[in-house]
Amino acid sequence: MANGDWRTQEKSLIPKQSGFATRAIHAGQEPEPATGAVTVPIYATSTYVQEEIGKHKGYEYSRVSNPTRDRLETNLAALEGGTASRVFASGMAAINAIASMLKAGDHVVAGHNLYGGTPRLFNQVLVNFGLTFTYVDTSDVDNVGRAFQKNTRLVFLETPTNPLMQLSDIRAISELSHRHGVEVVVDNTFMSPYFQRPIELGADMVVHSTTKFLNGHSDGLGGVVACTKPEQAEKLAFLQKAAGAILSPFECWLILRGVKTLAVRMEQHDRSGRKVADYLSKHKKVQKVFYPGLPDHPQHELAKRQMSGFGSMIAFETGSLANANKMLRKVHICSLAESLGGVETLISHPATMTHAAVGEEGRRKIGISDGMVRISVGIEDVDDILADLDQALAAI
Ligand SMILES: *Cc1c(COP(=O)(O)O)cnc(C)c1O
Repeated sequence: MANGDWRTQEKSLIPKQSGFATRAIHAGQEPEPATGAVTVPIYATSTYVQEEIGKHKGYEYSRVSNPTRDRLETNLAALEGGTASRVFASGMAAINAIASMLKAGDHVVAGHNLYGGTPRLFNQVLVNFGLTFTYVDTSDVDNVGRAFQKNTRLVFLETPTNPLMQLSDIRAISELSHRHGVEVVVDNTFMSPYFQRPIELGADMVVHSTTKFLNGHSDGLGGVVACTKPEQAEKLAFLQKAAGAILSPFECWLILRGVKTLAVRMEQHDRSGRKVADYLSKHKKVQKVFYPGLPDHPQHELAKRQMSGFGSMIAFETGSLANANKMLRKVHICSLAESLGGVETLISHPATMTHAAVGEEGRRKIGISDGMVRISVGIEDVDDILADLDQALAAI
């Protein structure tokens, strides 16, 4: 392996049929040929020396390409089952890159309950450049079909949604969209490729905030687009070069390190997520729990079909803003903070934190109440998480 082409982009040297955990640890992460270093080095360089005019080793300037970034892009493409991937400075930069593949006059059908930053980008920035957006509840495939216009180019969806954990049928939406010549992009941040691989279900591109489960340690921001067609990979690489929202070699390295434990982390997130959801669903002070792993979740069957685990994102209803605050003031192990997907349990209040920008009316429309609390269950000892929630809920 060490004798392989060290510039591994788009040609991971490990067998394609290798299992997920093997790909996570080895795809793009082959030992470095010059020294045998088993971990990918951080190539902290802005430029590369050239032998003579036009003669170089494939690298000219780090906005265009960097070996650490190449390795990460190879790795993440292998995990999502895409032909290539491109990484960006944040999840939002990745979503902006996808939108930048469109032209003025193009129309996008988007989910009505997306990560708050996504409609902010669409409605407050991109509409000024002639893109138009229609928001529908994508959990009903017919809503998607009804929203199509002659100029629709893209369906953009998140499944499960944040924080209501509503699912959309990726396969059905992809089939419908392709019949209309429309491409489908899935924001797969909540599930990670370990539990859900939209490309295998027909999606054309997958986007992640690597800030969350992929990196997994709450210590860096990043975004990735995994794609299925060479022209997508080329366009996205051009956007890295032209617009410059690239991910630094150090952040790339953090994610390369983070994904090595993605499989074991996700297994534990899922085990603990199920226990916490079960505990909350039986608690007298909790009025409702939103988690696709609960048998009474309206799309539990779709969840079992489309995902190989239920993950660790749970929302629950405490009844009022005052109740939510009473419990959130009392948590010790769970940290009151935005974000998700780290090894530590993070707990948040969507109405005033992640979904404040949606506005009261917007929140009411999609069903986010003032008493709703969201938890990203970490991988601490689950009994300690449960005890912490128990004493906090007692304050209500
Ligand atoms: C956090 C998040 C984003 C934005 O990613 P950043 O890395 O914060 O820019 C996009 N989509 C989802 C689902 C997210 O959770």
